[in-house]
Amino acid sequence: MSHFMPTEILRFLSGKGKVMKVDIGPLLRGECGKIDIDFTLTPEPIEGVEFESDAKVRGCVTDNAGYMRLTLDVELPYKASCARCLDEVSDVFEVSFERTVATPGMLSEQQLADNVDEYVVVEHGMLDVDEELTETLILEFPTKIVCSEDCEGLCPVCGKPKREGCGCVEKHVDPRLAVLASLLERDDDEFPDEPSESDK
Ligand SMILES: [Zn+2]
Ligand SMILES: [Zn+2]
Repeated sequence: MSHFMPTEILRFLSGKGKVMKVDIGPLLRGECGKIDIDFTLTPEPIEGVEFESDAKVRGCVTDNAGYMRLTLDVELPYKASCARCLDEVSDVFEVSFERTVATPGMLSEQQLADNVDEYVVVEHGMLDVDEELTETLILEFPTKIVCSEDCEGLCPVCGKPKREGCGCVEKHVDPRLAVLASLLERDDDEFPDEPSESDK
């Protein structure tokens, strides 16, 4: 005799890795023209990025005289270090996801294969876009995160963020002028030892 509790199993299966499945049956049957979508998606880990919460996914499926369109807006809060000054960056990544909803048989296998970014196919009246959405998040997520577009990074002399105005004097010499500078500046103990000459 089994002591399995069906409710326990259900809870276990739906606890983690929520799967978004939208029942668009009412839309297919013409009972409504729009179905709202609101769910969360657990992002795949990305190196160097911390996700404190799941992505919020909101949108809808609309039916316009048989032309069905899925529109989703994804918001994913994240924390990471600025690639230039190493400061903590706390921001929300936003991306949109749109697909034309195809019913089975509407498109050939070839048409689908050629337009994977265009369509999502209804299966048994349900839409399941978790995998594609997760993929989109990974692909679109910024590869270089900066605290601000004009972040000047760290002072090469003292290592503090430049925006703090440490006041260090950088002896930055344009490599093209280095030869000239070396001619002018005979007493070369003024020159930095860092290997910055061969950068470009
Ligand atoms: Zn920065
Ligand atoms: Zn400095």
